[in-house]
Amino acid sequence: MIAENLKQVLSELPEGVRLVAVSKFHPNEAIEEAYRAGQRVFGESKVQEMTAKYESLPKDIEWHFIGHLQTNKIKYIVPYVALIHGVDSYKLLVEINRQAAKMGRTVNCLLQLHIAREETKFGFSFEECREMLASGEWKDLAHVRICGLMGMATNTDNTEQIKAEFCSLDSFFQEVKSSWFAHEESFRELSMGMSHDYHEAIDAGSTLIRVGSRIFGERNY
Ligand SMILES: *Cc1c(COP(=O)(O)O)cnc(C)c1O
Repeated sequence: MIAENLKQVLSELPEGVRLVAVSKFHPNEAIEEAYRAGQRVFGESKVQEMTAKYESLPKDIEWHFIGHLQTNKIKYIVPYVALIHGVDSYKLLVEINRQAAKMGRTVNCLLQLHIAREETKFGFSFEECREMLASGEWKDLAHVRICGLMGMATNTDNTEQIKAEFCSLDSFFQEVKSSWFAHEESFRELSMGMSHDYHEAIDAGSTLIRVGSRIFGERNY
């Protein structure tokens, strides 16, 4: 089941779009099934759960943290995390940098933008993000690498709205890239698209889709 779902999703991805298989709240066995089918990139949203899975599963798995990260828990994932998708404040970036410096690592991060209409979703507004980048202070953070942007569309059946939100993030991505990262090869990821909206996200320029229930089935939480 999982292997078939995975293959189906992968078959729909154009070149240049990678899949983060979101395995949160699913047991190791589910991840192992996807792993045997060739998947190596997995996404988790809880620090403790991701760390336990990292410790007990094959070491060539690339772990992406996609949840809301609390500063006091950064230290647990810094040793092994491949990409932190949801950096939603400058303070968090500073703290990740501090922990990464201690451990002699450089941690890949995405800045999370608030593009949905819901109030509950985390992230910078476009204006806050522009101000943060314009201040230039982030350039001194030698142990974080800003690799791109991440966002979540409104949870709605209105596909026109979803498309408009993803397109707004894509144009903001182009703006940020040309203003601040024009010569940075590593600034290239646009993380957007989940089970119910990844087709729209891909059409709008996503390079990383984060798909859980479409592969692993519904979560019991
Ligand atoms: C849970 C989650 C996903 C995956 O959601 P599905 O609808 O199961 O595909 C993607 N991104 C984030 C940030 C999530 O928390």
